[in-house]
Amino acid sequence: MELFDTIHESEHEQIVFCHNKDVGLKAIIGIHNTTLGPALGGTRMWPYASEEEALRDVLRLSRGMTYKAAVSGLNLGGGKAVIIGDPREDKSEALFRAFGRFIDSLAGRYITAEDVGIDVNDMEFIFQETENVVGVHQAHGGSGDPSPYTAHGSIQGAKAALQKVFGDEDLSHYSFAIQGAGHVGLHLVKQLRSEGAKVFITDIMEDSVAQAVELGAEAVGTDEIYDLDVDVFAPCALGAVINEETLPRLKCKIVAGPANNQLANNEAGNELEKRGILYAPDYAVNAGGLMNVSIEFEGYNRERAKRMMRTIYYNVTQIFKISDRDGITTWQAADRMAEERIQSIGKIKLPFMGHRPHRFPGRKGMDRS
Ligand code: NAD
Repeated sequence: MELFDTIHESEHEQIVFCHNKDVGLKAIIGIHNTTLGPALGGTRMWPYASEEEALRDVLRLSRGMTYKAAVSGLNLGGGKAVIIGDPREDKSEALFRAFGRFIDSLAGRYITAEDVGIDVNDMEFIFQETENVVGVHQAHGGSGDPSPYTAHGSIQGAKAALQKVFGDEDLSHYSFAIQGAGHVGLHLVKQLRSEGAKVFITDIMEDSVAQAVELGAEAVGTDEIYDLDVDVFAPCALGAVINEETLPRLKCKIVAGPANNQLANNEAGNELEKRGILYAPDYAVNAGGLMNVSIEFEGYNRERAKRMMRTIYYNVTQIFKISDRDGITTWQAADRMAEERIQSIGKIKLPFMGHRPHRFPGRKGMDRS
């Protein structure tokens, strides 16, 4: 891989390789774009087969965060980090504290949070070394688990899509097929059922399905989920589930769910439109978690978080308007909306250089002595 060519292509500002051989730390921080503010995105720990695979992942994920923050109207840039290692075997206090020091050295250009393979206990170690962490435990004045907010935000996105297709967003009139009854999926089932929607659920884990059934969902097989004659298909587990194989099977009118990277490729997004299925772009729909942690900058407040989720409805509606106005697909409209915001706001200020210290009002710091 030609490193600078790759970074040039993906338009990253900075890639930081973090190594501490004494504690076995190999991590990469990707800072994609800080025009709108500090680069915020979680840290993922994964046993990558190669360093190249880890680098590609951090480049892809950090770029995605730029678009998510921009389209959501947040004053944040896009960043992400990966730690190369097996989360079941390679975790230690020293590893996370060493990583925390690297984050601290970036003086606020990058702010981390939880992602796949990282839990709240790991964040506590990082938090001992740097302020530049969000999603910390409520005991420290943080925002805690983002998944109820991600679910709530996804429902706002789905309502915007229902309004566009049917001119009505009363959930009790509609049926949903949810793929994945994990952290977000179960909250989604609960909230949809409380508003009277019909919900079908699938998961590879039987006990997760059982929990969703308890909440009033109807269980279906993992493969059957694509064939259901429902109003909304809500991917809530894996990426790339809208692909060549699944597209001809979909009978839904809308795809709106929280899973990241739902389209296998751009062609899949185009094909959804050709088939008359409205796609609410994933990164606009699932921004509730990011919005929730972003409130830590001004002092976390649950009520404010809930109110902020409503902006997802307006963002998704705006994407549909741009799609209609410019005659482009909704995934293109979302990218355009994000890029236009970065360009226009970029004209009013210099790139964020970490010179303004963040304050996290109400947050109780760790003892760093
Ligand atoms: P999770 O790991 O808690 O849940 C995922 C669920 O999907 C698990 O129960 C798993 O068993 C199930 N699953 C895996 N493969 C499946 C398959 N083939 N068919 C059906 N089910 C399958 O994850 P989560 O935090 O609930 O996140 C769900 C999705 O939402 C992910 O794509 C994640 O990236 C995205 N997301 C989550 C958040 C958040 O706040 N947690 C924020 C933004 C985006």
